[in-house]
Amino acid sequence: MPVYRYKCSDCGYEFTQRQNFDDKPLTVCPKCGGKVRKVYAPASIQFKGSGFYRTDKGGAEKKPSKKGD
Ligand SMILES: [Zn+2]
Repeated sequence: MPVYRYKCSDCGYEFTQRQNFDDKPLTVCPKCGGKVRKVYAPASIQFKGSGFYRTDKGGAEKKPSKKGD
């Protein structure tokens, strides 16, 4: 279950909430009843070293030209 981070725009209260993917995002601050917004955590997740590389051997690719007889 993913953990979402919220921040209240009224009182500034920050908290995290465990929610299912299909749960509705929280909108009410548990402290003051104000509006909360989802906060996206700074990049702590890195997509690294997946060994992605291209094998372009440069050069013109032969394109079969369409000729209608
Ligand atoms: Zn609040």
